Amino acid sequence: MTDFTQTTQPTASHYINGKYVETAHTEAFESIYPATGEVIATLHVADQTTLDQAVAAAKAAQKVWAKTPAVERGRILRRAADIIRERNQALSELETYDTGKPIQETLYVDPTSAYEALEYFGGIAASITGEHIDLGDSFAYTRREPIGVCGAVGAWNYPIQIACWKAAPALACGNSMVFKPSELTPLTALKVAEILTEAGLPDGVFNVVQGFGAVGAELVSHPQVDKVSLTGSVATGKRVMQAASESLKAVTLELGGKSPLIIFEDADIENAISGAMLGNYYSSGQVCSNGTRVFVHKSIKQAFISRLKERAENMILGDPMDMETHMGPLVSRTQCDKVRDYIRIGQREGATLAFGGGDYGKGEQSLYVEPTAFTDVTDDMRIAREEIFGPVMCILDFEEEAEVIARANALDVGLSAGVFTKDIQRGHRVVAELQAGTCWINNYNLAPVEVPFGGVKQSGIGRENSKAAIEHYTQLKSVYVEMGDVDCGY
Ligand code: NDP
Repeated sequence: MTDFTQTTQPTASHYINGKYVETAHTEAFESIYPATGEVIATLHVADQTTLDQAVAAAKAAQKVWAKTPAVERGRILRRAADIIRERNQALSELETYDTGKPIQETLYVDPTSAYEALEYFGGIAASITGEHIDLGDSFAYTRREPIGVCGAVGAWNYPIQIACWKAAPALACGNSMVFKPSELTPLTALKVAEILTEAGLPDGVFNVVQGFGAVGAELVSHPQVDKVSLTGSVATGKRVMQAASESLKAVTLELGGKSPLIIFEDADIENAISGAMLGNYYSSGQVCSNGTRVFVHKSIKQAFISRLKERAENMILGDPMDMETHMGPLVSRTQCDKVRDYIRIGQREGATLAFGGGDYGKGEQSLYVEPTAFTDVTDDMRIAREEIFGPVMCILDFEEEAEVIARANALDVGLSAGVFTKDIQRGHRVVAELQAGTCWINNYNLAPVEVPFGGVKQSGIGRENSKAAIEHYTQLKSVYVEMGDVDCGY
């Protein structure tokens, strides 16, 4: 039995207007620790009244927040960052229980990337400005204004990170937010809300409501919501954009991918294998930007596969709370079944299971899937075209640079891409041709807050992180100022 009482749990389902709010009368759902199936917490779905309350609180608070000096807004966000950093251990444990991701990941990545976003956007809040445009006798200037109430919806793979990647830029720009986490991982967004209040955020500026997709759908189509931001699948992205189009709300969509990782014959093979492993097995492969189509040059393919197998077989799967554990379970029964289905599909399609595919002796009932790799994969196979979102690497081979670029670009998603080569000119030449929002040369899956993150094609619209995010949480007002007389011919 796991003792969840040692964790700093949120005390109710929702967080509205600076307080925890419970809706004991609405549908209940459980937050489950994927490693053991134990219930961490029971929460309730937000009904329409609760959602309306959250949006109304956000609307009222936004007017005051937008008038708060930007330097003060930034200070509050940075204070929240400091609190998250101080509580990294407790928040990482809570995130591990909620997601099943190993503590050796959450301790270094999840609350960390959350507080870095708050620190970064807190730091630049006071530098968000318009510009002066000289028109000779007159002039104009632009005001970079907040959009209003943001309705944001998150996926389950990086819950605290997603909450802060959305809240930090939105709040820095003077917006307010109602955030709906995935019902699979509802806990840490509530802690973010609680911490923001502790840091001095005015009540109502950041609110959290719980629920399934239907609550997300109500939120994004709510008439008082001015801007929508989703992290989720391509299918959900299309539905959200359709709903937002009713009132032409601005959208930021961070969606899925099936990204290519290209390993040329001159690559440092150990580094390339590290990149491929991190880009397929980190967080049990539940990462949107994963390089799941690994194109390896024919001349090094055998060496690559045998060394990869050796390293993958040394990975430790097990208790996520053990610092030695490299990989935990998948997040849910549904996700685990989906991944195991894809492994069967790959075998049926004629790909060779190079290693993995099993449950690491944990049993079919567990949510563990071993690090897995298929070889002899062809571009037309479903495992090479569809996002699996689990620890399943597809290895394809190639001979020519132009050929691999065309194959890498063949899908209608384009979140990320990677290239391993020691040839500096080839590295830059190839990434210039790749249709992806983020490319890495000689590494994979790094997402520092200073760098824009987002997709092209069906992987999304807009960018998170960096100064680019400011563009998506502000709107420009142009102000023309006449310094002379009105020139009127009649
Ligand atoms: P989903 O698209 O299933 O869900 C995302 C969120 O949207 C959930 O909170 C979900 O609620 C909610 N939702 C579902 N239907 C609607 C709707 N019609 N309107 C509004 N909200 C809705 O994705 P997953 O949670 O399964 O996450 C995995 C996906 O997210 C993968 O495709 C992955 O690639 C992508 N992702 C993208 C990232 C990026 O930055 N590009 C980062 C992380 C993940 P509920 O959970 O109740 O269904």
